[in-house]
Amino acid sequence: MSAPSYDQVHYALKRERGSAVGLPCSHPDCDRPSSGWALLDHPTHIVINSHGKPVRISTDLDAYGPACTRHNAQRDHGGNWTLCPHGHVRFLWGTDSKGTCRGCIRLGRMTSHLQVGRIAHVVSTNTDERGRS
Ligand SMILES: [Zn+2]
Ligand SMILES: [Zn+2]
Repeated sequence: MSAPSYDQVHYALKRERGSAVGLPCSHPDCDRPSSGWALLDHPTHIVINSHGKPVRISTDLDAYGPACTRHNAQRDHGGNWTLCPHGHVRFLWGTDSKGTCRGCIRLGRMTSHLQVGRIAHVVSTNTDERGRS
């Protein structure tokens, strides 16, 4: 069987399990209403979505649970409720409003700055960011 698309899986979810909108979020400490289905178990495929981004999907519809916007995004990025895919402890680092791990954001900034290799710029930007966060 070839890899299904992200849309195919989500159409199948709606058909088989109905809409997840308004159900309680699956996160143990979250009481916000769900905005849709989130992959909570292991992915069976990693596919490119319509925005050109790699997304994890599963052909096992039971691998999905309802999640609020933030937790849905958190799980889309990988990892689990406790750890981000890079091993940052979620409750220590937290996420931004899009569900991106703050530890990874910091790591990504450092990495991209190193790749850019403008040392003088890195120093001044890091100072600015420390002031804001
Ligand atoms: Zn939630
Ligand atoms: Zn992280």
